[in-house]
Amino acid sequence: MTLAPIPPAGHPRAHPGRLRTGPSPILALARALDAEGHRVVHLEIGEPDFPTPGHVVDAGIRALRDGVTRYVAPEGLRPLREAIAARSCERGVPATPEQVVVTSGAKPMLLYALLALATEGDEVLVPDPGYPGYASSAALAGSRAVRYPIVRDGAGDFRVDLGALEASVTPATRVLVLNAPHNPTGMVLDEDTLAGIAAVALRHDLWVVSDEVYAALSYDEAPPRSIASLPGMAGRTIVVDSFSKTYAMTGWRLGYGVMPASITGAVRALVAESTTCAAPFVQHAGIAALQGPQDAVALMRAEYRARRDEIVQALAAIPGIRAATPPGAFYAFANVTGLAGGTSTSAELAERLLREYGVASMPGSAYGRRGEGHLRFSFASPIIELREATRRVAAFAAAVGSGCT
Ligand code: PLP
Repeated sequence: MTLAPIPPAGHPRAHPGRLRTGPSPILALARALDAEGHRVVHLEIGEPDFPTPGHVVDAGIRALRDGVTRYVAPEGLRPLREAIAARSCERGVPATPEQVVVTSGAKPMLLYALLALATEGDEVLVPDPGYPGYASSAALAGSRAVRYPIVRDGAGDFRVDLGALEASVTPATRVLVLNAPHNPTGMVLDEDTLAGIAAVALRHDLWVVSDEVYAALSYDEAPPRSIASLPGMAGRTIVVDSFSKTYAMTGWRLGYGVMPASITGAVRALVAESTTCAAPFVQHAGIAALQGPQDAVALMRAEYRARRDEIVQALAAIPGIRAATPPGAFYAFANVTGLAGGTSTSAELAERLLREYGVASMPGSAYGRRGEGHLRFSFASPIIELREATRRVAAFAAAVGSGCT
């Protein structure tokens, strides 16, 4: 795999206009209201409210004190890559440390993956609704994001529409981006759907970039399977994962990709040319996270599950709102088309809910056209905040639903 040629000066790839998405106006408004002294309940950001487990923090501090403060190899420290490869094997995706590249979070790994795999004129399939970073990264790679639909089935659960996915493939399609458990819907993929997606990738000779940052946050008995564990898939898949959600380490900036050894050279070069390496003392914390006790992960998952059940029940009880129980991640993606006579966009509803009732949520349209009609409430916040939020959302719904405002 070779990198795309360096674009000449003035090439549009260098223009910030290539970034088709930016931070949602909701984030700026919520911060401004905070600064004015309003009591805002923040359910807009997908960020664990738990502290990083103590033994992980200790490992990072110890490494700093031991002088682990210099540049290291772009692909990451070998012991961390060994621990990541071992974790990958546990998840049914056999990997060696040579197949791992460590990055400063999942986000850069997603960008590097698309820079390495796609180039001008290529099409990249991304979920709709879906994490906005995929389309931005595709655009930065000079390729075109083509959205495939995530739909609700009769039971109200979200799923990949396999027929529509395959219909989105053209001769220019090069990469399929998959995300499960899914942001913003919490969707997980059953065995049949996973096999169906793998069949599409194999039939059309596509690369798969599988964003599995919420893999530890599945509320079913069995942990979700990676598409890379299916026959024929490991050689065409980059699994992207991170410590952010699993270990409450968003600010540490540590993630990684597990990929065929043939791709690591390109990704390694991208790390070398951008960040040089992920901070080495942070990598030591990552080793402690993977190799130390996992009780904190289990405790956080149990707490998210309890919060999920409470917020979904409270939202679903509000006239005008439909909310299904997400099987993974920490988002309630509520259908709000029954509010305000269905005349308001999700952006308008999110703004009013924030300005008038002090609840920050994300408009579904921030995740693509098919997200319209929804608000995403993160339940990575203390239960007391969730109760206050749903109390306010109920008051908002009563007001807009009855035309009182
Ligand atoms: N992928 C998905 C689906 C996400 O929701 C997020 C963060 O919200 C990321 C990737 C980025 O994770 P990281 O903090 O590891 O960069």
